[in-house]
Amino acid sequence: MITLEEAWTRILAASTALPPVVLPLEEAADRWLASHVAADRDMPPHDRAAMDGFAVASRDLRDGPTTLRVAGEVAAGAKMSTPLTPGACLRIYTGANLPPGCDAVVPVEVTSQRTFSDTMQAEVTFSGPVESGAHIFKQGENGRQGDAILRTGSRLEAIQIGLCAAVGQTQVMVHGLPRVSILTTGAELVSSTVAAAVHQTRDSNGPLLEAALLQAGFPAHPPRRVPDDAAATVQALRQSAGQAEVVIITGGVSAGRHDYVPGAMAALATIHYHGVAMKPGKPQLFAASADGTLFFGLPGNPVSALCGLHEFILPTLRRLAGCLPEACRPCWRMPLASPVKGRADRQRLMMARLVTTQHGLSADPVSNRGSADLVAAAMADGVIVLPCRDVALSAGDQIDFRPWRSFR
Ligand code: AMP
Ligand code: MG
Repeated sequence: MITLEEAWTRILAASTALPPVVLPLEEAADRWLASHVAADRDMPPHDRAAMDGFAVASRDLRDGPTTLRVAGEVAAGAKMSTPLTPGACLRIYTGANLPPGCDAVVPVEVTSQRTFSDTMQAEVTFSGPVESGAHIFKQGENGRQGDAILRTGSRLEAIQIGLCAAVGQTQVMVHGLPRVSILTTGAELVSSTVAAAVHQTRDSNGPLLEAALLQAGFPAHPPRRVPDDAAATVQALRQSAGQAEVVIITGGVSAGRHDYVPGAMAALATIHYHGVAMKPGKPQLFAASADGTLFFGLPGNPVSALCGLHEFILPTLRRLAGCLPEACRPCWRMPLASPVKGRADRQRLMMARLVTTQHGLSADPVSNRGSADLVAAAMADGVIVLPCRDVALSAGDQIDFRPWRSFR
């Protein structure tokens, strides 16, 4: 049996990012960039007012109160701006380009204004001096023209989509998304849409995996059920491989008499590992065919399947979609909320929820009845990944936490 890390190393060796495609920006959310995105002009492109108020030359304001004539106004988006004449100021609005001759904005709230009714001429009194540069967004302070403001391998989430729009990038080069097939095995399984007899088990892995993939940004083909039969398993895997870059099959991955998956996978692909020193979820299976299709076998028990999904499958899908290898498997270092024990035989993955304790955000083990306990899993935010040694950890000790909920 190999370690979690070794399994991931073998997956990385067999996985390459899918070729780039150019997409309109509005179709690119949740993809990973295949090239840098550069600023097409300075950001902002000109010194701009950060507040509604008055644009002034800071040298015109003295220690005591100073009154200046209002010589005009500059609204956001106004194309031409009047240069400032000495002894005057200009009414200015947030986002407007700073007119020539001005070097500061004084917010309207800290001034007093008056308008002469005969001439309609306005003047403003400033209570004291203002620093040069006050309340101004300086030209280029967020980025210079040509700067890479998003790097290859970044994920395009809402903020990044907004940033692309801000630099006029209407199309982006992103990696392709892997197509995924889901197969479930088990003669005991029935669909949740039909009445289940007492000896039957409702298929929860199929809907769970389909939903998890969709949530992670990888819509999959609808799950299909495969009979516990050697030839049928080979046939189903082959057919799925024809329409997907990644094939997931749950159940039947151990060495039992009705476990046909290892043999079927070996008939189509090279097995890179079968068995990972983890608990739960030991009989993990990973294979790759000559044409690059990746096959994952997950144990049938729902919590074991979930562990394999988050340890290996979602990270692999991210990698294929262009995520940088080091960012594919999010892991947080955080304190424990209550004591736990690790063992030297296998790495423990303990379902846990996030709670706030005296140590800050912490991982609190969710009590559970083992790998079939989907009721307990529904309360978990992820797993504590314990080291593979005999260890007793106390509340407050730092552990690795693998989030199961999407957080990038
Ligand atoms: P297996 O890995 O095939 O030995 O299955 C282990 C356990 O997981 C058995 O109790 C199965 O009934 C259960 N199981 C297998 N597949 C599913 C599934 N798709 N949904 C729910 N439970 C399953
Ligand atoms: Mg089975």
